[in-house]
Amino acid sequence: MRQPWRVAVVGGGIAGLAAAVRLRDRAPAGTEITVYEQSGALGGKLRTGELAGQPVEFGAESFLMRDPTGAESAAVTLARRLGLAEQIVHPTVGQAALVVDGGLRPIPGGTLVGVPGDLDRVTTVARPAADADTDGGRPLVAPDEDVSVGALVRSRFGDEVVDRLVDPMLGGVYAGRADDLSLVTTMPALARTARVEHTLVGAVRAAQAAAPRAPGAPVFGTLAGGLSTLVEAAVTASGATVRRDAAVREVVPTVTGWRLTVGPTRAPERVDVDAVVLAVPARPAARLLSGPAPAAATAVGELDYASVALVTLALPQPRLPELSGFLVPSTEGLLIKASTFFTTKWGHLRRPDGLALVRASVGRYGEEEQLQRPDEDLAATVHRELSAVLGEPLPAPVDGHVQRWGGALPQYTPGHADRVAAARTALRAAHPTLVLAGAGYDGVGIPVCVRSGETAADEIITALGGSAR
Ligand SMILES: Cc1cc2nc3c(=O)[nH]c(=O)nc-3n(C[C@H](O)[C@H](O)[C@H](O)COP(=O)(O)OP(=O)(O)OC[C@H]3O[C@@H](n4cnc5c(N)ncnc54)[C@H](O)[C@@H]3O)c2cc1C
Repeated sequence: MRQPWRVAVVGGGIAGLAAAVRLRDRAPAGTEITVYEQSGALGGKLRTGELAGQPVEFGAESFLMRDPTGAESAAVTLARRLGLAEQIVHPTVGQAALVVDGGLRPIPGGTLVGVPGDLDRVTTVARPAADADTDGGRPLVAPDEDVSVGALVRSRFGDEVVDRLVDPMLGGVYAGRADDLSLVTTMPALARTARVEHTLVGAVRAAQAAAPRAPGAPVFGTLAGGLSTLVEAAVTASGATVRRDAAVREVVPTVTGWRLTVGPTRAPERVDVDAVVLAVPARPAARLLSGPAPAAATAVGELDYASVALVTLALPQPRLPELSGFLVPSTEGLLIKASTFFTTKWGHLRRPDGLALVRASVGRYGEEEQLQRPDEDLAATVHRELSAVLGEPLPAPVDGHVQRWGGALPQYTPGHADRVAAARTALRAAHPTLVLAGAGYDGVGIPVCVRSGETAADEIITALGGSAR
C-alpha cells in the first residue's frame, strides 16, 4: 500500500466528520484526509444560527447522553475527545406535553418512545385496549422478522396508544408515521427484547431494564456554544483538508483505489484516493454507487425521506407553561407537529429581558404540499396554532426564522436493516475500501451517526491493511 494513505470523506455532516476524526486518531500518521462537502457549510443537519442576537439551533438541537445499552453515547465521547465535555449542558425543564383534544397534557413517564411498560401510567392521554397483550406462548417477533412499530403496538395496546402517544413521539423524530416505521431501525432495544418476550409490556420492561438510568441522570445534552462548535472542533481535530462547494459526482474504481469526479460538470476535477467514506444520504449514495456497485445502489436507494420546516419565533415576554415543549398527534389536525420552548427548556438560553425563543416543526411525511407555503404564511400559521394550543394570544414576534430541510429525515420501513446489511455485504466483497456511513443506513440521531462514521473509519483502516492504533 502506497504511503501516506489518501482517504476521501464524501459528505461533511456529523457522520463524515466523526469518520475524519477517527481516521486521524487511528490511521497511520501522515494519512491525508480530505472532506468533500457539496454545500458551502459543514455540519449537514447540525447548524447553529442566530436570532434576536442569540445563538439558536436551526437543525438538530440536542443529543442523547446514553446509548441503548446505558453506556455513554458516542456523541458525548466525541465531545470529550474534542475537549468540549465542559460545554455540555442539560435541559433545566425536561417535562414535555402532548396536545390532546386541543389542550396540553403532560407526557406520561415510563414509556419507551411512547410505548408504555405500565399501562396504568398512560391513561391521562390514551386508553389502552383491555387485555389484548396476552401471552400467546411465543415471542412477539420472530428471529429475522421486522414489523412496523404501529402494527405491533396497535395489536397489543390498541389504536389510542399509537395515535396519541407513539405516533407523535416518532413523528417528532422522523416526521413519519408509526404504521410505516421499522421496529428494528427506529426502536432497536425494543426489537431485541420483542424477540424474547411474549408480551409487549414485558418487552418494554426488559428493554428498560437492559439500559438502567441512574435516578436524575440527564437524558439529553447539548453544547452551550451551539452544536456547530462540535462541527468546528471535529474539523480542527481531524486535520482534514476541507473542500466546501465540492459535490462528488462520480466514484470509479481504479487499480489501486478510487477516482472521484468533483465539482461542476463544466470544470470537473479528478482526484485519486486509496479509500472513500461515503457519508451522504441514501439518494446521492445510490447515484454514486450505481456504477461500481449496482446491487448496493438498489438496496440503499429504496429509502425515502420526509421534508420538514423549522419555524423559530422570538416573542417578547409571552406567558409560557413550565414545559420543554409539546408534541402534536396528527389526529389533532394542526400544521405544527412539535414545538420546543428553547428559552424555558435550556437555562443557558434564558434572557434577562424575558424574550422567548419558540421553535415549531412542521411537515409530515406525505404532506409535502404543506411546505409549499411561503415563509410568512408558515410563520403566521405557527403563531396562530401556538396561541390556540396555549389558550391565549401570543404577542407578535419581534423576529423569526424559517429553516427548510428538504428530504432530510429517513423513513425506515420494515426490512431497512436487512437492505443495508445486504448493500454492505456486497460492497465488502467487491470494494472493501468504499464504506457507507450516516443516517441513511444506521439510524437518525447524532450519537448513531457519530458511531456510524467511526465504524466506517475503522473498516477503512482494516481494509487498507492497518490496525487500529
Ligand atoms: C430538522 C432536524 C432536526 C433534528 N434534530 C435532532 C436532534 O435534536 N438530535 C439528534 O440527535 N438528531 C437530530 N436530527 C437527526 C440528525 O441531525 C441526523 O441524523 C444527523 O445529523 C445526520 O448526519 P449525517 O452526517 O448522516 O448526514 P447529513 O447531516 O445529512 O450530512 C450529509 C452531508 O453530505 C453532503 N452531501 C450530499 N451529497 C453530497 C455529494 N455528492 N458530495 C459531497 N457532499 C454531499 C450534504 O450536503 C450534507 O452536508 C435532526 C434532523 C433534522 C433534519
